[in-house]
Amino acid sequence: MARLPFIAANWKMYKTVGEAVVFAKEFRLAVKDIVDVETVVGPPFTALHAVAEALRNSNVGIAAQDMYWEREGAFTGEVSPAMIREAGAEYVIIGHSERRRLFSESDAFVNRKLIAAYAAGLWPIVCIGETLEERERNETTPVLDHQLKFGLDAITAEQVGDLVIAYEPVWAIGTGKTATAAQAQEAHHHIRGRLRQWFGADAAEKCHVIYGGSVKPDNIAELMREPDVDGGLVGGASLEVRSFVDIVTNSRPATV
Ligand code: PEP
Repeated sequence: MARLPFIAANWKMYKTVGEAVVFAKEFRLAVKDIVDVETVVGPPFTALHAVAEALRNSNVGIAAQDMYWEREGAFTGEVSPAMIREAGAEYVIIGHSERRRLFSESDAFVNRKLIAAYAAGLWPIVCIGETLEERERNETTPVLDHQLKFGLDAITAEQVGDLVIAYEPVWAIGTGKTATAAQAQEAHHHIRGRLRQWFGADAAEKCHVIYGGSVKPDNIAELMREPDVDGGLVGGASLEVRSFVDIVTNSRPATV
């Protein structure tokens, strides 16, 4: 069963509401005829609702960049799964390396958020990946295994089938240093193998494993040629409409 390419933008802490809406309107027009790629944009919380309005009835999905796992309560500064759904998000990015590194999010946090996302009817995009030091110590595989094992604890095979896993080597994020297609394939193949082992062949085949780390219009096609690379999570190069449209276009099966 073929997995459609899945290309998601992570805008991080960029774009005012006005800038985000301008992007959304231009982008929906540019990709309106592209039906062989799933596209998603990830605005900051403040722009979620306005972007959802601008993308209503389009083929572009919307992701929040994070959320808390509780339904409501005294959690100053946090946003619940139901709140982001109400704002118009269908997806939520969980466990981005910036959240792990700057906000001390553990695999246990990731797991609680994942369970809460499914309970709220959100599709999670879970980020995993090793640091440069870990890669240099030959620890990439055990690091990925640990993040998967504890991050996906108590998740069902059916839920894994709906999951997007973003393999994002930390050393490649925002550095301009992309993993080679062979490095990405090696990691993705390992991840899919673990999913097959723990959740069965059907879940492993359905799960999208996408790559993140300095994806650009001129390197996406090569990455997409690898059998286990199902798409990209794009930071810097998703901030300009032209560049993000080119990434979507160059990820299409006909192009690669
Ligand atoms: C990201 O934010 O997930 C990311 C991969 O960023 P960049 O594309 O800028 O490396």
